Formats: sequence, C-alpha cells, structure tokens
Amino acid sequence: MTESAAAATELYSGFKTNLGIVGYNGSAIRDDVDSVRDLLRMETILDWAQEEGMATGAVTNTRPTHATIAALYGSVVNRKWECDSKAPDGVKDLARQLVEDAPGKNLRVVLGGGRGAFGNLEPEDVVNQWACQRKDGRNLVQEWLSKAEKSAYVKNKEEFLAVDANETDRLLGLFAANSFSFVSEHLKNSSQPSLPEMAAKAVQVLSKGDKGFFLLIESGLIDSAHHMNWATKALEETLEFDETVSKVVDMIDTKETLVILTSDHSHALSISGTTSTGPEGDIRGLSEPSTETHGHRIPVLTYANGPGKMNESNSRNMTDSQFRHPSLTELWTSAHSGEDVPIYATGNVY
Ligand SMILES: [Zn+2]
Repeated sequence: MTESAAAATELYSGFKTNLGIVGYNGSAIRDDVDSVRDLLRMETILDWAQEEGMATGAVTNTRPTHATIAALYGSVVNRKWECDSKAPDGVKDLARQLVEDAPGKNLRVVLGGGRGAFGNLEPEDVVNQWACQRKDGRNLVQEWLSKAEKSAYVKNKEEFLAVDANETDRLLGLFAANSFSFVSEHLKNSSQPSLPEMAAKAVQVLSKGDKGFFLLIESGLIDSAHHMNWATKALEETLEFDETVSKVVDMIDTKETLVILTSDHSHALSISGTTSTGPEGDIRGLSEPSTETHGHRIPVLTYANGPGKMNESNSRNMTDSQFRHPSLTELWTSAHSGEDVPIYATGNVY
C-alpha cells in the first residue's frame, strides 16, 4: 500500500521507491541519510518541462512542501522534513530546496498553504504539532521575492483575486499556516481562495509564454477526509476537484494541451447497497431494504478501517459533513488501500 511521497516520486520520475521517500530511487532507506550519500535526486517531469523551456507551476490545498508537490522538485529520506525544525541538522529541508535549488526555484507559480515552513507566519495563524515553524529565523518568502522582478506574494483571498496575471511572471501564494480548511468550512475561513480559483489563476500566469506550460494541481484534502472516515467531506472535496478540472479544460485548447487526471493511491471506502432515486436515495445515507439485506437498511458507504463507529448510522445524521461513516476495524486514522487507481486523460501533446 503506497503513500503520497513514494507514489508521487514514482509518477513523476518513472522509478519505484520506498515508502516515505521523496525524490530518490529504491536504494534510499527511510530516515537513513547515509543511504543517499552517493545518490542523486531523480529527475522528474518538472525538470524535463523546464528543459523544454516551459513555464511551470504547482497548486495545492495542502502545502507546497507536502509530499505530492515536494516530489516534483525535492529529495529527502523522510517526507516530514518540510522545514528545518523537523529535519535533522545538516539536512536541507524541503522549503529551502524549493526556494534555493533547481527545479523548485524555477517554478513560476506556487499556490497552497504551509507558510510556517517558509518562516512567514501571520499573527492569526494557529501553530499546532502538524504545522512547521522555522528555527533558523529565515524568511523564505522574502528570499523568493528578491530573486526576480514581476514577482508577487499574496497571503489571503482578497490579495489573490487582485493579482493581475498579465503583469505577474512569478506568483507565490501561501494562504494557511498548514493545509487549507475543508470546502465545507470555507465560508468560515474566507481568507483562502478555492481550488478552482487557484487553478484558473495559475493557468493564466503560465500560459502567457510561447513554449507552453506544465502545471500540477493537487486536491489533497480528499485523502485527509477519508483518513478520518468523513465520507461526506471527501465527496465535497471531490466535487470541488471536479469543478477545478472543468474550469481548466474550459481554459485550455485540447488540440495542444494534454490534461491527465489520476490519484496516487486509494482508500478503504466501500460502496455497497442499493439506493433509490428521490430525496431518500442519498448515497451518504442508508440503502433501500432488499432481500440481500433481509429487509434492513444498511449504510451504503462504509470503511474497512478508521475512527468511524459501527452502530451510529441513522438516516438523520449521515449526510452531515462531521459524520464519520462506519468502520469495521477501529484505527485512529484510516489506512490507504491497494487497489489500482484509474488514469483519465484528454487533449494532445503539442
Ligand atoms: Zn493519506
């Protein structure tokens, strides 16, 4: 069962590696710095796109230093080494790799959360055990800004919406200390732009040149929701991602741009039991009684494992985004599953 660091490294480089490893091949051993002393970071699709002169960017509602984006540009033997306070002494953390080294430093658009790792927290930020905080006192946002003209940094939705893509060649936006809030909480946290808004702005900034562009867009909170057995939240995040894909496909010319959509791994969610159409037939709720279920109504969405409880389902509470769908084996966080994931694509390589 893979996880995001190994899966992303494999997707972008074409080589298998071990769990928790970012950017190194399968000789790398998790947490063992000596295992990579003689290894180079593997080249990825980001390097190849930049070699072709393409403008490149990355958008996420997690963090630009989180595994899925980090594997584009970074290399570490533990995906958690996002900032210096989480990495061993002498190891360059992922935030510094992004700002200082190619190909990370050549990204023209970087949008996401995780400003703690960049040493640029805002007064309102709540720093918990998951959020990085720099101990070296550096402000990597200022360092990033100083590297080229027509560079902009934005930290909230208002500043983000005011960015003129025609006047901006490099755009860094960090909208949360850690990852974004779930879509269902966006109204309460309106300082964060939506994923479709970020994707659209990224396409505008990147598509100005004549050599084409490469853009990676991650909807990272689908995974976070499944880990907590929040099936409704996972579906809400998936709907927002669907909207993001539609928006991007509408903005590009599929005669010369290829769009690839996939997942890095699956989750332990099962969809089982028949629902009727109409207001009662909500996939988040209970099935119709049938001979298979001996006339009972059963939860349609269930998890093989995670923090959800077995016997708390009723038709009233199951569509609430806070409801944890039932899990067979109790775990504090649901585990990834090992089934194949689909890959969809539309368009052309120009
Ligand atoms: Zn996960």
